[in-house]
Amino acid sequence: MSAPDRESPRACPACDAARARAAFCKRGFDHLRCARCGTLFVARVPTPDELAAIYLDPSYHEHAGETEVERRAAEAEARARRLRALGAQHVLEVGCGVGSFLDAAARIGLDVEGVDRAPSAARARARGHRVHDRWLDELRPVAARFDAIAAWEVLEHVASPLAMLEGFRPWLRPGGVLALSTPSFSGVYARALGPRFPMVCPPEHLELFTRRGLVTLLDRGGFELRRLRSFSNLGRARLANGFRRYALGESPLARAAASALAVIAEQPARLVDAVGLGISFEAYARMR
Ligand SMILES: [Zn+2]
Repeated sequence: MSAPDRESPRACPACDAARARAAFCKRGFDHLRCARCGTLFVARVPTPDELAAIYLDPSYHEHAGETEVERRAAEAEARARRLRALGAQHVLEVGCGVGSFLDAAARIGLDVEGVDRAPSAARARARGHRVHDRWLDELRPVAARFDAIAAWEVLEHVASPLAMLEGFRPWLRPGGVLALSTPSFSGVYARALGPRFPMVCPPEHLELFTRRGLVTLLDRGGFELRRLRSFSNLGRARLANGFRRYALGESPLARAAASALAVIAEQPARLVDAVGLGISFEAYARMR
């Protein structure tokens, strides 16, 4: 039996509903599920000092191996092309990190700037990108001059995603595009793994949106959804890794079984993405 709905210490960050039910506790953070849209969120938001300690740590953003770097480059290029197809030329990326999207966007001819206070952004600057060493809300928009804002894997990190969307508006020209990705709490992996879903990782992730929650949030922020897809990036290597980690273990037999299962699972994993039940959402919306 699931827990009863009750008054939540924090209104739903997606739809603002006041009632939620207890879901589980992970890493000392109680998680609640919105009674209206199903979005998962931490009951207590970390203090600004706790958050700064995470994002200003020099090791943040630095975990990618070589195949991961290649995968990210391909993903970034696909995203840059989708933005260009929506008419964007001048793009601001919030939370650009080491700059893989800035690279891809510049490569296909977009004008890009980044915003990121994380020390890893120095690597993007070293490759010639313009990256503001501030949080976005510390900068004053001089004019609504960007065709698009990109915020890949950003929304789930902030205490008020609505305030963040509202903060984007003065930077965009009328009809400008917001492009974002964020983990999904509507997917099959989230449902199957619950608290063991790797995207449940407080205090970095403070909320995981359901489809309904994300659509509601964008609407409240004054953005009209144009395209929403789900993706998981589960190739064979990642699937095998997942089977070992979450189901089978690390014995030689388990490793062999995990590899065999991964071959079988690769096509179903693509199908899961195609029907919108993958690990994350990628959304494109136009400012009203
Ligand atoms: Zn909600």
